[in-house]
Amino acid sequence: MLRQRTIRKPVHAIGIGVHSGDKVRMTLRPAGENTGISFVRTDVPASAPIRATAENVSDTTLSTSLGIAEVQVATVEHLMSALWGLGVDNLIVELSSEEVPIMDGSAAPFVYLINTVGIVEQRAFKQFIRIKREITVNQGDAVATLSPYQGFKAAYTFVADHPVYNRYPKIAALDFADTSYVDEVSRARSFGLIKELPQAQAINKMLGSSLENAVGIDDFAVMNDGGLRYEDEFVKHKLLDAIGDLYLLGRPILGAFNGYKSGHALNNKLARALLRCEDAWEMVTYQTPSEQVGQPILQPAAVSVS
Ligand SMILES: [Zn+2]
Repeated sequence: MLRQRTIRKPVHAIGIGVHSGDKVRMTLRPAGENTGISFVRTDVPASAPIRATAENVSDTTLSTSLGIAEVQVATVEHLMSALWGLGVDNLIVELSSEEVPIMDGSAAPFVYLINTVGIVEQRAFKQFIRIKREITVNQGDAVATLSPYQGFKAAYTFVADHPVYNRYPKIAALDFADTSYVDEVSRARSFGLIKELPQAQAINKMLGSSLENAVGIDDFAVMNDGGLRYEDEFVKHKLLDAIGDLYLLGRPILGAFNGYKSGHALNNKLARALLRCEDAWEMVTYQTPSEQVGQPILQPAAVSVS
């Protein structure tokens, strides 16, 4: 269970970018041990792969973008969230345009896509980032924290005063030990107030947004046929985003995340702050007795950071 994972064989999807509105073809390909997640723009000749790392985040306006020089890849967070949720460590993501397809606005289509080809274990041990001491970052009154915990748990407080938001839960918490990411988190869709759409479109964002890929909210109600997928879908989507943004640390976290109003910018600030504080974390692997005689079960072994 605690070895690195990739997918069994390549798999394709076609969709549109929620911000650009452009059609995009995405291919997920298996990748070698210790190579992590990387993105390749197939429409930009000879462009270097972009590693999915916190340091490569180039923009956090309404979504998380990665970039090296002029080559950008937007809206990576829902795919990254699905990859952590499924325990995929190594993957190449090829894109024919500048944005990961939005699909239905959640992480569920990526989960489905990966499950259609299956996941394989690799030889190398899976590496985790174990939080050793608390790190907190702020932005205005928004706060994001990582603290030590034997596993991974996350809590989020969504702050918005609106007649529709006020009807639904604004606080959610989950622990990966007893919560199914696939069932409880992955299906939560992006959401927004319809009257804020023109503002976003004025800066060339959300050009592909529709009720097919987001929950739309007017002054009084959820506009989508069928309503919400979860009673707490809004706050659950914020957790889904945070999980995706934090997976840009390159490995899953052993620790507790707590977000109050935090969005993509603050999530990235938290990841960067953690990486800078080298005494606040360590990389660990887990080796079972059959693999290393004499070691206790699940005894973490610190590994050197490359
Ligand atoms: Zn999102």
